[in-house]
Amino acid sequence: MPLDDVQGQPRAMESLRGALRTGSIHHAWLFSGPEGVGKELAAVGFVQALLCDGAPNAGCGTCATCARVARRNHPDVTWVMPEDEQVRRGYAGRSDFTHTPSRDIKIEQVRKLQERLSYRALEGRYKVAVLALAEQLNNQAQNAFLKTLEEPPAGTIILLLASAVNRLLPTVRSRCSKVPFGPLPRELILQRLRTERKLDGPPAAFVAELSNGSLGQALAMDVEALAGRRELIESFEAVGLHDLGTLTRFAERYSASREEAEASVRLLKFWTRDVALARAGRGRLANADLAELASRVAGRISDADIHRRDRLLDEALGWMTRNNASPRLQWERLLIQVKRAERRAP
Ligand SMILES: [Zn+2]
Repeated sequence: MPLDDVQGQPRAMESLRGALRTGSIHHAWLFSGPEGVGKELAAVGFVQALLCDGAPNAGCGTCATCARVARRNHPDVTWVMPEDEQVRRGYAGRSDFTHTPSRDIKIEQVRKLQERLSYRALEGRYKVAVLALAEQLNNQAQNAFLKTLEEPPAGTIILLLASAVNRLLPTVRSRCSKVPFGPLPRELILQRLRTERKLDGPPAAFVAELSNGSLGQALAMDVEALAGRRELIESFEAVGLHDLGTLTRFAERYSASREEAEASVRLLKFWTRDVALARAGRGRLANADLAELASRVAGRISDADIHRRDRLLDEALGWMTRNNASPRLQWERLLIQVKRAERRAP
């Protein structure tokens, strides 16, 4: 059954399978949990199980109905998401909107959905609405949607997928049967990085650590930026205040493009977190392969130095992203400030 494709969420799957087995399908469901842990995959599998004729209450995954559900174009299944998400996914183009695509799910979208739900199902047993990124429903839209949650048209099933459930009104949440999704196990993420990104060893461990259990985040990470992670960190630590050569070479090396400069600053932020962990003597380092360097640096600089690094990196990032400042000058300024503060003898 297609729900079997959802990995690492045994509790959530048990409650969905249980509902399908007993046929007690609540009319509104709230799938909650971080982005990229399988909520939407589970929604597709659940809807297939609801609509599939070949394998009722299970879903075959291969018939025309199941295929259309997976392609998001089954006539009885309405997907609702913010306009900018539609653009990001390629379901709509920027030119389809006369305004900047909204990050909210707006009241007009809810009204349109309500109109569609008021008609009879065209083919299947149910009419289904899937609200992806439901936390983006603005207040007005949530209030308008309450009516549907309270008195849904016959044969309607509503799925809300949300990562920040606290942004949903308590009245919305309380109408839904809740299915919590958790972060995915580290082993599962490592395995998928291996098969889908050909990523292994320390870089894979780094990505797994940073992804916080989100497979979506792990797979979306910029693998190219990661390739030079070790070199970046080692040369950052090697820069000397009185060795202008290493300083300017570093600034030049990591300013080839704005994107590269920003990605490098972000990697150094994780490195700074690792140095703090090494200083505290606990926690799993993101850069586990550089543990020795982390503890050497942690022994040389103070807690205040670590905070300063973090703040200066944030500032540099802010200048680069918001103010279009020259990355090279930002690097030079950052390095001089960091190294000047830390130059005390070890
Ligand atoms: Zn099927």
